Amino acid sequence: MKAARWYKAGDIRVEDVPECQIDEDYDVKVKLHWCGICGSDLHEYLMGPIFIPVGEPHLVTGEAAPVIMGHEFSGEVVEVGPNVTNVKPGDRVVVEPIVCDDTCPSCKAGNPNLCQNLGFHGLAGKGGGFAEYTTFRHKFVHKIPDTLPYDKAALVEPISVGYHSLEAGDFKPGMTAVVAGAGTIGLATIESLKAMGAAKVIVVQRKSVRQEYAKNSGADVLIDPADGDVAEAIRAATDGYGADIAFECTGAEACFHQLLDGVHTGGTVVITSIWEKPVTLDLNDVCIPEKKVVGSICYCGDDFDDVIRLMDEGKIPANGFITKKVALDDIVSEGFETLTGPEKKKQVKILVSANPDELGA
Ligand SMILES: [Zn+2]
Repeated sequence: MKAARWYKAGDIRVEDVPECQIDEDYDVKVKLHWCGICGSDLHEYLMGPIFIPVGEPHLVTGEAAPVIMGHEFSGEVVEVGPNVTNVKPGDRVVVEPIVCDDTCPSCKAGNPNLCQNLGFHGLAGKGGGFAEYTTFRHKFVHKIPDTLPYDKAALVEPISVGYHSLEAGDFKPGMTAVVAGAGTIGLATIESLKAMGAAKVIVVQRKSVRQEYAKNSGADVLIDPADGDVAEAIRAATDGYGADIAFECTGAEACFHQLLDGVHTGGTVVITSIWEKPVTLDLNDVCIPEKKVVGSICYCGDDFDDVIRLMDEGKIPANGFITKKVALDDIVSEGFETLTGPEKKKQVKILVSANPDELGA
């Protein structure tokens, strides 16, 4: 089958590899329809390896680079192992791409996203979504309704990252929230906040087409950091008090400080972004106003099924997310290069497919 494999930074090749087969562990085979290119894929392309095992095989998959990439995908089940009861051939599905060991205390507590040996299907080896087929563990395969198209279903994974961050921050309906950054995860967070009953969603985003994307996703107030003090603007939009909760989706230090300043005493800043550098922080700014800074990673529990339902009901419409669709053959030139080139700000999510049904071939 055809697949896109990562060899090293700047070297992703579309090539013929043996078609994947189900085994005792990876017991569901999926014919792939669409797979999104994620920010973490771009990090691997530009400056990897970050999550990809090189030399030393991954402890759970036993594989190392070259690995098939792609972890935001939808498809149709074509084969299942004898112990699989939750899905059957013909089912339309998405996959929670968590590679975990099942044995560490976090896994045993029901938090595989906090596994001590966490990896991702599509980064850790043993298959991925930039291919014609993949196999994965049945407990991470979720059915989708016939009314949710395959292209939108490929967004369930990144939207679940935004959705989970509300739980991580203990968000409650009626809260006033700030989201910094209107990329995929920022937009997913905005739409999740609207769906879950935020009183007001304030978005921090420099003037660009991304401000339009934020508005389309439901932003009530837009703040351009170039216009002056962001924390002051947040207070001005919240009767002078400050926001209840803020979500950092940029990975920029200045932005983190503005959010920490912009939430009121006792407020919360959730960190959903991945950071390239350490941040300097005066912990008195956390201690004295009794603010909380919490992390959020992936999704767990019912997140995927909640997001599938909210998308199907139109409560998370995700209408502005898909900005381009490309064939697997063109994934590097039309996908990775577009998302790292001069036009990157215009793009939100590029979807990739090797499936002739989707490409109209
Ligand atoms: Zn574990």
